[in-house]
Amino acid sequence: MHHDHLLTPELRALRDEVRAFVREDVPRQLLLDMDADKVRYPREYVEKAAARNLLGLRFPKEYGGRGLGWTSEILAIEEIGVLGTSLGCLYSLPSIIGEAICRFGTEDQKQRYLRPTLEGRLMTAEALTEPRGGSDFFGTTTTAGREGDVFVLDGQKRFVVGAEGADYFLVYARTDPDAPPHKGISAFLVDRGPGVEVAHVYGLMGTRGGGTGRLVFRGARVPAENLVGRLNGAAEIFYRMMVPERLTSAAGAVGMARAALEVATRYAMRRKAFGRPIKDFQAVSFKLADSLTLVDAAHSLLWSTAVADDTGADPSYVRRLVSETKKFCTETAWTVVNHAMQVLGGIGYTNVYPVERLLRDTRLIMIWTGTNEIMDLIIQHEWFKEKEREWGEAPPAARRAAATPGQGAGASARDVEMDAENADLVEEKVYE
Ligand SMILES: Cc1cc2nc3c(=O)[nH]c(=O)nc-3n(C[C@H](O)[C@H](O)[C@H](O)COP(=O)(O)OP(=O)(O)OC[C@H]3O[C@@H](n4cnc5c(N)ncnc54)[C@H](O)[C@@H]3O)c2cc1C
Repeated sequence: MHHDHLLTPELRALRDEVRAFVREDVPRQLLLDMDADKVRYPREYVEKAAARNLLGLRFPKEYGGRGLGWTSEILAIEEIGVLGTSLGCLYSLPSIIGEAICRFGTEDQKQRYLRPTLEGRLMTAEALTEPRGGSDFFGTTTTAGREGDVFVLDGQKRFVVGAEGADYFLVYARTDPDAPPHKGISAFLVDRGPGVEVAHVYGLMGTRGGGTGRLVFRGARVPAENLVGRLNGAAEIFYRMMVPERLTSAAGAVGMARAALEVATRYAMRRKAFGRPIKDFQAVSFKLADSLTLVDAAHSLLWSTAVADDTGADPSYVRRLVSETKKFCTETAWTVVNHAMQVLGGIGYTNVYPVERLLRDTRLIMIWTGTNEIMDLIIQHEWFKEKEREWGEAPPAARRAAATPGQGAGASARDVEMDAENADLVEEKVYE
């Protein structure tokens, strides 16, 4: 299958372990009941993943993880991804919230929250988005005022997967109203309890059964020891959390794309029209060729980004790669699932095949964990920053390549701008 040549024996073994979980521990009826909104929150599914020690693979063994890297985790999530966005998300939440606790939390928080989460004893959720907007994260209006040993939380968050079902929430709230937005927010671990109310559970196009709702905090008292990281220091936690947030979205997307492609390929080989298998029509086989190319490219980008973070590449560079990967993998999934539906014809639009569910699921992923427009915003921002660091604010004029190889140009690449016949006509190069 895809990219087997990249897998070490350990990674193959892990992939087979995850496949066994996906095959044996996830009843088909669970998927159907979640899609029919008969299940509010599939706690047992998360417990079963934990029982196989499959949650939070990156985290140290002492907290219940396996001490593995991102390449292992994306491999696992890609396999889980075939189950759709809801189960993919619930599998990924311990990895996302775990990142904040593991990197920024106290030993006590790791023992009280991270370990029980990875062991399947506590269900976790993240409450970042507010009704007033998700993209403008730093505009957070939820507040946490200090009163002795506690912070008192007031405000609301919406679209929280696990609003129903989770035992605790990672919540960002404003702790210094006078500071600039990036410097006045803190992160908290908030237990479900008095002052934490589920005000509404949303009816969704897809991604159902995960208890996605609106939370209202009214005077919720959060012990001061549940502050994660520094007071007013949530910006660095948020930036770091966006790595697992977006890489898990991207990996799940590749899993869904792969699932749709498999279904469509099988159909194209068996279904006949005009007396021949429809795969003999280029309109069909080229859609599959296009899909396969996209899936392989998405997988490669995902892999390369995983290696970048595992090997400690510069955070700005990782941020750009993560955003490109989230955008590309989710758009790939949307295109591939649409191609699959087209290949199946009318029956693809019915619930005889799962492609219509995958289509509803994949529509979401271009919106959540940061919309793809926000991904573009980050990509271009980090790119110009990178170039400004290299060149300064005003890019230098083009220079002729050094006449003697290995001399003059140093380690910089050939300046291709000078390879035009009239490249020397500086008076023709007008910029203002
Ligand atoms: C089913 C579901 C599950 C979710 N799960 C969670 C969860 O568990 N936890 C959580 O915290 N959140 C969750 N979200 C929230 C999700 O991340 C947000 O919906 C998303 O970030 C967008 O925020 P918004 O909906 O407020 O849209 P807005 O921020 O209001 O954006 C609206 C539109 O404007 C565009 N836009 C906004 N600002 C800019 C800009 N500067 N440049 C260009 N375009 C811009 C956006 O791209 C979008 O098209 C979930 C959402 C859904 C639907």
